Amino acid sequence: MSEKNLAWAASMKGECSASPALLEAIIEWAPVAIIVSDAEGLICLCNREAQAAFGYARAEMLGHCIDMLVPPAQRPSHRLARSRFLEHPAMRRMGEGRALSARRKDGSTFPMEVALQPLAGPHGPLVVSMVVDVSERERLLGELRRAATGLEEQVQQRTADLQRVNRDNLALLDALRAKSASLERLSREDPLTGLANRRDFGERLESEILRADSLGLPLSVALFDIDHFKQINDRHGHAAGDLVLRASGTLLRRKCRATDTAARFGGEEFAVIMPDAELCAAARLCEHIRLAFAAFSWASLRQGVAVTLSAGVAQHEAGAPSRAVLAAADAKLYAAKHGGRNRVAWRDDEGEVRPAPETNS
Ligand code: GH3
Ligand code: MG
Ligand code: MG
Repeated sequence: MSEKNLAWAASMKGECSASPALLEAIIEWAPVAIIVSDAEGLICLCNREAQAAFGYARAEMLGHCIDMLVPPAQRPSHRLARSRFLEHPAMRRMGEGRALSARRKDGSTFPMEVALQPLAGPHGPLVVSMVVDVSERERLLGELRRAATGLEEQVQQRTADLQRVNRDNLALLDALRAKSASLERLSREDPLTGLANRRDFGERLESEILRADSLGLPLSVALFDIDHFKQINDRHGHAAGDLVLRASGTLLRRKCRATDTAARFGGEEFAVIMPDAELCAAARLCEHIRLAFAAFSWASLRQGVAVTLSAGVAQHEAGAPSRAVLAAADAKLYAAKHGGRNRVAWRDDEGEVRPAPETNS
């Protein structure tokens, strides 16, 4: 049975008039509005969907001009398009690329898509218009576009928010880093003189000893103590004492070599790490510093002030802990004080020290 039907359908290609009943059924029940009009634009056929879409009864459409299905404002251009189509008839979509709208009986309009098919009728040319109401599709498209725009705006807003938070965080991080670097510096610096403090001195001494031991190089340490500093405080006041300490720090830093580490070790005590310096060379450097202190014009800071310095120097013994060289330098400092102050003690026989030549002063 189905084979017979297939053969029958094949025989109908281009010969639809062979089954007017079938054609009529297809046209009548197609889910697209089908309207056939003649050269004058008079409607000569409309199916159920056309009546439903435009809101007219069949009798209200048949014999009337197809213009009534077009919004009044578009009728002139529609007429022109219709006559052009009749001049060059070919199956095509109507108004390609343009938004077309149709008019219902009640005057309302809806967006549509139209396919046009020319047809040679028994009494002249005919035009088959197949109209699809695309209002639902347009509505959904509009919704989609609005949703996409909303989403894009949200994404842009969120991205901008995140970028702002990121910038704020980076700025905060920079500020924290700067703060932490400044705290780190402060934690290693003596606030009065700007020299390394005792903690920093201790850490640097450990690492310089490691370096000296691993390279087999000499290293010496000197401790300095201002003579009778208490008297300066007592006679000229604590503020004058501070001035002397600050100037002492500057003088000490200026007289040391660039590779030395000068530190404020305690109240009026200073310490210097002298890498690559054997005891004798270190003692000469200390003598150079002592003489600089003795020669400095302290009176320019405060009338009547004079400052001298005692120093003890010791050389690190390879493999010994840092406290050993410090204890040895301290013992020498004690000896210098005991020996009359304003001197550098560096070896047991208290040999004479010649100052080192000017270095970086
Ligand atoms: P010596 O020659 O034996 O070293 O005698 P000295 O007077 O220098 O030593 P002493 O240890 O008796 O006195 C040190 C004084 O240093 C006591 C203390 O008040 C003072 N001092 C410690 N730190 C500071 C400071 O930061 N500023 C001032 N102005 N004085 C300080
Ligand atoms: Mg002291
Ligand atoms: Mg002192």
